[in-house]
Amino acid sequence: MKPKIKPRREQRYRKQEILLAVGSFFIIAVLAAFFILSPHITLKGKTTERINIHSAYQDPGYRATYLGKDVSKQVKIKGKVDSEKLGTYEITYTLKQGLFTTKVKRTVKVEDLEAPLITLQGEKDFLMCPHQDYQELGFQAIDNVDGDVTSQVKVTKKDNTVTYEVKDKAGNKATVKRNLTEGDREKPTITLNGDAVTFIYLNETYQEPGYQAIDNCDGDITGNVKVSGTVNSSVYGENTLVYTVEDQHHNVEEVKRIVKVVQPGGPGTIYLTFDDGPRAGTTDQILDILKETGVKATFFVTGSGPDELIKRAASEGHSIGLHTASHQYGVIYASGDAYFADLQAVHDRVQRITGIDSRIIRFPGGSSNTVSRKYKEGIMTYLTREVLLRGYQYYDWNITSGDSGELTDSEAIANQVISKLSLEKVNMVLMHDTKTYTKDALRKIIDYGKANGYKFEAITLQTEMIRQKVNN
Ligand SMILES: [Zn+2]
Repeated sequence: MKPKIKPRREQRYRKQEILLAVGSFFIIAVLAAFFILSPHITLKGKTTERINIHSAYQDPGYRATYLGKDVSKQVKIKGKVDSEKLGTYEITYTLKQGLFTTKVKRTVKVEDLEAPLITLQGEKDFLMCPHQDYQELGFQAIDNVDGDVTSQVKVTKKDNTVTYEVKDKAGNKATVKRNLTEGDREKPTITLNGDAVTFIYLNETYQEPGYQAIDNCDGDITGNVKVSGTVNSSVYGENTLVYTVEDQHHNVEEVKRIVKVVQPGGPGTIYLTFDDGPRAGTTDQILDILKETGVKATFFVTGSGPDELIKRAASEGHSIGLHTASHQYGVIYASGDAYFADLQAVHDRVQRITGIDSRIIRFPGGSSNTVSRKYKEGIMTYLTREVLLRGYQYYDWNITSGDSGELTDSEAIANQVISKLSLEKVNMVLMHDTKTYTKDALRKIIDYGKANGYKFEAITLQTEMIRQKVNN
């Protein structure tokens, strides 16, 4: 038998296989060594992060190891994220250990992830009058990146819903809805012709000045107004008329008018009025003269001066009116609240001293004063109405004695008053009981009045108001 001989080719193959195995082992060993000897960085979070523009970027963190040891602190970070600017940013984490350097990258995308904000003007749940067309109440849309995108808002109305939609350039979409309901929760308004507090004379017939009622849904409903209450002009005092109206949705409005019955300003009556007191040394002398002559007058007092003089004036039958406590224009005419606080103070003073709830007032400077404009525009227009609504009556004057400044001579003061007195009208005389020369003039005025058919009276709530023209 011939011995079998291994073919040469087969031998060659085996050699190659061995070489390959050794080679592979070597490569694997090198790779393993490389792997073991090179440092490692593991990123926390995602390798691609997306953040919204204008929101601060926070690195989610990383961990680095080398030969099993934590070497995170030695990692160097390169790259910055500008979260105020759209774009793609790269952060590189580098760690060098011996001969080996490891680099890891993270991508941060600053994007617009936020939809525009649609703001509705008017109510979101809007109540509409029945059978009325919806009128757009308005809206605004602002995007964090694109800015004002109001003009791109699409408005659609279907049934009782209005839908507002807008998309920004990045494709973020916002949708807001407004619900429409039919109904009416708004009261009608009643406007009175003439004043809310009005005056008629004793036995005069009351003439209704009229009114209008307008409703937001029903329109003019003046015809539905019901007036209750009556005016009895046969007695002095206050009558209340109530105007009521109801709209189709049962919203009711009610307005009141006060009709006061007063004495007609008797021709030839003289109302002597003294402002700014009381003052020791002058008010008492004036009271002496009034007592001696049997004349009743009116004192518009302030917060100053002795209590006893107010007490005496009241007990001797004079009227005590309110002139404000401070008499400071800058204080009382600064606001309605300021005025009424000051008025209340003098009111309470008079009540404490005399027990009288005085409702008779005189504005410092009169209702026609223009100095108040310096402190508040329109204050007199407001106050002259408001005092009436609060149950007060105010009295200006039609004769000024001049004793507050221009005249300082009692003879001249008396002559000025006397020259203006008239038997044809009511004579409301402005004087000041704080002045020394007024008392001397007073005797002369009273003597003249008595000798010439005048009668002297103190102001009461039945006295017709003497009002000047309001200029502020
Ligand atoms: Zn005054």
